[in-house]
Amino acid sequence: MSEAPAFLPFAKPNLDQAAIDEVVESLQSGWITTGPKVKKFEAMLQDYCQAPHALALNSGTAGLHCALLALDIKSGDEVITTPMTFAATVNTIAMVGAKPVLIDIDRGTRNLDLNLIEQAITPKTKAIMPVHFAGLPVDCDKLYAIAKKHNLRVIEDGAHAIGAAYKGKRLGSFGDIQMFSFHPNKNMTTGEGGAVITRDQAIAEKITCWRFHGIDREAWNRFGKSGSQNYAVIAPGYKYNMLDIQAALGLHQLPKLDDFIAARTQWVQRYIDVLNDWPEFELPSDVDYQHTHAWHLFQPALTDAAPLQRDTFMQAMKEQGIGTGYHYQAVHAFPYYQETFNYKWGDFPHAEYISDRIVSLPLFPQMQEQEFERIINAMKTVFKK
Ligand SMILES: *Cc1c(COP(=O)(O)O)cnc(C)c1O
Repeated sequence: MSEAPAFLPFAKPNLDQAAIDEVVESLQSGWITTGPKVKKFEAMLQDYCQAPHALALNSGTAGLHCALLALDIKSGDEVITTPMTFAATVNTIAMVGAKPVLIDIDRGTRNLDLNLIEQAITPKTKAIMPVHFAGLPVDCDKLYAIAKKHNLRVIEDGAHAIGAAYKGKRLGSFGDIQMFSFHPNKNMTTGEGGAVITRDQAIAEKITCWRFHGIDREAWNRFGKSGSQNYAVIAPGYKYNMLDIQAALGLHQLPKLDDFIAARTQWVQRYIDVLNDWPEFELPSDVDYQHTHAWHLFQPALTDAAPLQRDTFMQAMKEQGIGTGYHYQAVHAFPYYQETFNYKWGDFPHAEYISDRIVSLPLFPQMQEQEFERIINAMKTVFKK
C-alpha cells in the first residue's frame, strides 16, 4: 500500500535558498538587529511602491498602531472600519483609546460597503480604515472622495494586499497611509514584520520616532554636536523596529512578489473554473473597476445547498488531509467589542452571513497540480458529489 500523502496546509511560505543564505549572512556578520539590510529593504519597498517613505516595522499591527498615533487619534475620536477583518485592525483603534465605528460589508466583495460610510460619520470621526479584503482593492477613488469631502484621514489596512493595484496604480503608490504585513501566511514574508508607506513626511518622521523608543536623533542634533552618539527622547515610544534578519528575507521576497501573485491568480482561476457551478459555494464577486487582485485568500462561502456547515466542512477536509482556514470571525462577535462598544450579533447581517460561511481554501504559489486535484477530490468526497 502506498503512503497517505502528507497533510496539505492552506498556506505555505515560499522561501528560496538566497533568502536563507541572506539570514545566515546576517547572523555571521554579527549585525542582527536593525541595520543595513533594513535600510536596503526600505529602499526596495519605496521603489516598488513608488513612494518617498517606506518604514519597516516588526509587524503590520505595529504599523496600524503607529499610523493612528501619528495622526494623533485618541480617546474621544472615532475611526470607521469593517467588522470583516482580523482583530488587529480594531484592536489598534481601541489601543489608542478611540472607538472603532463598524459598518457592514458588501456581501459579494466582502470589502466594507463604501455607501455606508457617510451615514456613520459624526463630529468625532477622524479617519477611515478600510481593509483590502483577501487582496481586492476597495474602490479607492470613491473612498478618497468621501474622505476629502469630510476632511478625514485614511489608513489603509493592506495586510492582504501588497502587490495589488487600483486602476493601474499599486497600492501604496497613492493615497494617505498604507500598511502592509509580512506575517508568514501573507503574500510575502519577513518571518513577522510589516511596513507603513506614506507620502506625508511629518507622519514618516513621527513613525520613525515612535517605532524606536521615541528617540529622535535630529532633535539632539538641533542642540549642536553633530556626529554625536547622543540622542533625545521626545515621546514615550515603542519597540517596533524590524531586525536585519527579518529584512534579509524581505530582500528576496519582494522581487518575487509579482510572480507569486501571478501564480496565485492562476490557481484561483482554476478554482473558479471548477467551483463556479457548484451550488454548495458562493464565490467572491468581481468589481467593475480595473484592478489587480493580490489573491491573498480564496474564500468561497458555503451556501444552504451544502450538506454541512463551515466548521464541520473544515473538520471533514482535515480528515481528508487538507488544511483550510477561517478568515475571519467578524470582530463584533468578540466579547471585548460587545462589552466596550455595545456591538451585538445582528448588527451587520452581511458580515455575519460571510463570517458564518466563509472558508479559505489552500492557496500558495508553489502549489502543485496534484495537490489541486487532491483538494477538489476531497471536496467532492465531503459534499458526496
Ligand atoms: C495579518 C493582518 C493584520 C496584522 O498584521 P501582522 O503583521 O500580523 O501584525 C492586520 N490586518 C489584517 C486584515 C490582517 O490580515
